[in-house]
Amino acid sequence: ILKINGLEKTYTSGSKQLTVLHDISFDVEKGKTFAIVGPSGSGKTTLLGICAGLDTPNKGDVELCGFNLNTLNEDERAQLRNREVGFIFQNFQLLPTLTALENVSVPLELQGSKQAAQKGMELLAQVGLADRFHHYPSQLSGGEQQRVALARAFSNTPSILFADEPTGNLDDETGEKVIELLFNLNKASNTTLVIVTHDLELANRTQQILRLKGGRIMSNQAPVIK
Ligand code: ATP
Repeated sequence: ILKINGLEKTYTSGSKQLTVLHDISFDVEKGKTFAIVGPSGSGKTTLLGICAGLDTPNKGDVELCGFNLNTLNEDERAQLRNREVGFIFQNFQLLPTLTALENVSVPLELQGSKQAAQKGMELLAQVGLADRFHHYPSQLSGGEQQRVALARAFSNTPSILFADEPTGNLDDETGEKVIELLFNLNKASNTTLVIVTHDLELANRTQQILRLKGGRIMSNQAPVIK
């Protein structure tokens, strides 16, 4: 479902050029769970954004859900994302002026769903937030905000879900709940999971771990402990 070939990414700031990803190639099969780990600054978030079609590489190809992203324009990439891709950001990125329910239902409405509110309520109930529909993000705990972000990311029943540090700001217990929700989605809907994480326990629960260091692949293998 995801094929990365010969990827390179260089950031330019002023006259300086910084190559943060060097010759990255790997595949993720449909329905698999895949973790990207590595030290801070090793390029994990950059790589995730490129895989999801949110950012473009300087070199190399990304094939996502059967489409080579290089051959799609911005609109076509956005359509593909709406149809097939879910994304959970490091800092949740909920809209502060919308309630929990609206954060989930408004994107559905924009995609033409006739029962956006109903679907939004069902999704929030699934992540245990049936009693928080009308709370604003500022009135929710970090874990609750993350669960709203999950409900939103699940809303289009994505073929592939990209998650950047989904348990990063959460206590162990809440993090565990979020992990369960992710793996349940993988089992129930065969949604492919690609997760950037510092949490080795989480990484060890996936089927394949890609280790990055200084923008290069150190290893790409199944976890040793299962
Ligand atoms: P962390 O675990 O700390 O989130 P990461 O592995 O996700 O780190 P990235 O966020 O992908 O790392 O960043 C990789 C490198 O690229 C870093 O050195 C960072 O400073 C640099 N970088 C990221 N975004 C930009 C940008 N927009 N412009 C210039 N440099 C950037």
